[in-house]
Amino acid sequence: MSTIEEVVQKAVKKQGKDPTGMLEIIRDVQAELGHVPDKAKSLIAAGMGLSKADLDGIVSFYHFFSEKPVGKYAVYLNNSAVAVMKGREAVARAFEQEAGCKFGQTTPDGIIGLHDTSDIGMNDQEPAAIINGVVFTGLTPEKVKDIVSQMRSGKDVTEMVKEYGDGLNGSEIVRSMVKNNIRKKGAVIFAPFEQGSAVKKAVRMTPADVIEEVKKSNLRGRGGAGFPTGMKWEFTRNNSKGKKAFVVCNADEGEPGTFKDRVILTELPRMLFEGMSVAGYAIGADRGILYLRAEYEYLLKYLQSVLDAMRKGNLLGRNVAGKKEFNFDIEIKLGAGAYICGEETALLESAEGKRGEPRNRPPFPAQYGYQGGPTSVNNVETLCAAARVMILGGEEFAKMGTFQSHGTKLLSVSGDCQKPGIYEVEFGISLQSLLDEAGGSDAMAVQVGGPSGKCVPAGEFGKKISFEELPTGGSMIVIAPGRDLLTIVHNFMDFFVEESCGWCTPCRAGNVILRERLEKIMARKGTESDLAELAQWCAVVKTMSRCGLGQTSPNPIATTIENFRSVYESRLQKGVGFVSEFDKDKAVEEYCRIAGRTPYTEGR
Ligand code: SF4
Repeated sequence: MSTIEEVVQKAVKKQGKDPTGMLEIIRDVQAELGHVPDKAKSLIAAGMGLSKADLDGIVSFYHFFSEKPVGKYAVYLNNSAVAVMKGREAVARAFEQEAGCKFGQTTPDGIIGLHDTSDIGMNDQEPAAIINGVVFTGLTPEKVKDIVSQMRSGKDVTEMVKEYGDGLNGSEIVRSMVKNNIRKKGAVIFAPFEQGSAVKKAVRMTPADVIEEVKKSNLRGRGGAGFPTGMKWEFTRNNSKGKKAFVVCNADEGEPGTFKDRVILTELPRMLFEGMSVAGYAIGADRGILYLRAEYEYLLKYLQSVLDAMRKGNLLGRNVAGKKEFNFDIEIKLGAGAYICGEETALLESAEGKRGEPRNRPPFPAQYGYQGGPTSVNNVETLCAAARVMILGGEEFAKMGTFQSHGTKLLSVSGDCQKPGIYEVEFGISLQSLLDEAGGSDAMAVQVGGPSGKCVPAGEFGKKISFEELPTGGSMIVIAPGRDLLTIVHNFMDFFVEESCGWCTPCRAGNVILRERLEKIMARKGTESDLAELAQWCAVVKTMSRCGLGQTSPNPIATTIENFRSVYESRLQKGVGFVSEFDKDKAVEEYCRIAGRTPYTEGR
């Protein structure tokens, strides 16, 4: 068994002391030691010329790094709202019962650790968990019993997967039980794609003409904000003269309910990598980075094998596709579990090996991005769509969709519907049509765009999915009549409290206050003034937070107050000015528990 010194030395050496490899170093140390103890942090810090405080900051920032042992088998059970809808609590209790420890703990023998995690991109096959990097879907209490007994017998986690999913999930290199659940194919992402067709066409044009073609297509970023892709590439190119430019692909889809990137990464990585090459050619970059969320680590080896094959086929490397002096290659950087890293500047910080905290803007990444170089950050679906623009031509692409939304959109549909999965629809389809296709016609509401989006009531199901009417990054959570909407909203607020990076007070403290006020109303202790205050706090957090996370985190509450006010009002105390939420007996009980004292109960 290696000593801590040896483990750290090996991990640091492997990265050649490159600071951008910091997450890899910590990951290697954690994999070897089961956690990142203080001594390891000090040694890494010394080896990398950083302070111990820097290491404390990085390790504590990411969900999948831990200062305490996480267990030989580290179970990360998803706790998203849809996981709860699909029976997550019974599965969690089964894990606790079989393992003999609670969530947040490790068994005394250190064999099993149980951990909650926010979203693992498996909403279409919940309840789901990641155990030592291997994904388990469709869990039931019976399956948990079997898994835990196999852990007790020391079996390798990969051997516990009994059935493989469809498509390339079942390939020799992926061997995952994840299912694609592709329900509808459209004309952009899932249309037939011939390897090399996009990049070969691009390199026959000038970089300026490639950008012009993308501008003609009116392709807008598919992450939700909808910034025009051609314009982003143009800004980056204009800043790249004499500087090292980068293409960064944001494959960190962390919005609960979204899983479309997972399917693209499994079935269409060649199309994605070609989209990155086209972007690289257009902006004058010779390096691309795929920032892959930690939850999709199970695809890492497979994606690397695809990159190798593309290098061999001259679709990456030197003189790509035969174009003299167009050299472009792609590396994959793995995240470590942090929703905020989906924000482009936080992602860049994380890719540089730091805490994934958002940067102040300006300067924008097109001016000052990865390692200070001009950088175009695009998401997975956008880059695939850009590859298709090359093949179809900008004008042809622009014929699809609506006035301001061209092409198609991939939607991740989950929740209360018969056919959860991926739908590629042309922009302009109504929400009702989507629900009819997905077997969720009788929905009470749809959370469009995930928790940071909007809770849309049935009266608005006629709206078109588009940037003009119903913008979405792709997450569509269907909510059936009879569901307790406030429980779902509470789950979303738990998520934001957990995922706030803590940099600014309105978001760090504001989301906690929002959740507490919501709990007061849920406990039927709220009054009209509490509801009014709740709405005011939403406005404060929204307007005063520094980045997109805080600016959208009040949406679950704000949009349900707007569209489902009666759900709140039905729980309010009527005709009362104020009800204290302070429960003296409960507080005394809690104090006694912490202090190890017995509550005084004489006379009660
Ligand atoms: Fe961090 Fe939230 Fe502030 Fe964004 S809004 S910087 S996530 S604390």
